Amino acid sequence: MDTGRMDDLDIVRHPTARRCTLSFDLASGRARLVVPKRAALKPALAWAAGKADWLAEQRARLPAPCPFVPGATIAVADAVLTIAHEAGARRAVLRDGDRLSLAGPVETIPRRVEAWLRRTALDLLARETAEFAAKAGVTVSQVAIGDPRRRWGSCASSGAIRYSWRLVLAPGWVRRATVAHEVAHRVHMNHGPAFHALVATLLGEDPTPARAWLREHGAALHWVGRGSPG
Ligand SMILES: [Zn+2]
Repeated sequence: MDTGRMDDLDIVRHPTARRCTLSFDLASGRARLVVPKRAALKPALAWAAGKADWLAEQRARLPAPCPFVPGATIAVADAVLTIAHEAGARRAVLRDGDRLSLAGPVETIPRRVEAWLRRTALDLLARETAEFAAKAGVTVSQVAIGDPRRRWGSCASSGAIRYSWRLVLAPGWVRRATVAHEVAHRVHMNHGPAFHALVATLLGEDPTPARAWLREHGAALHWVGRGSPG
């Protein structure tokens, strides 16, 4: 393996794997080499080294980091907001038209912008979840947000729904399709035809393009706020 890039390779010993596999995660930018539990490491690394070209191709597809710095723009729901940092004493982050204005120490910008985005995401997602739940005639016991790498939403049998806060960085039609999907799981805990029909009914349109959008652009959402100083 390209030794200069060993730092982004995770080597995982797998109890039931029969052979080595190499994968690359565009959301994290990390490569993962799965090695069977008792296999020798040296040949596994040599095998992975043979995949260097493939790995280079994957790295070339990595989304650009979008750090939260003054002047940076962030797509939020269906708007594009510019981080406007002003001189003066620290005060709350405020949305003013297409400006996200804040004051205070520069090094606090990334943390405070992310906190604002998380609050905005939770507000929107909770409201839309309530709207779809009423339409479906179901209850949702709790709406929460997190930052999972592989899922945009999940619905527990307890009735709690969790979303990725990063859905607020996606277009509204993509976010709403994800909400309709999770709320429909309150009726069908599977992905059968009746489930898909209900998602389309709740949403009022075919959710397929929204799923496709997330497959294509989802990784880039994980690079928003990355590379922020401090
Ligand atoms: Zn599902």
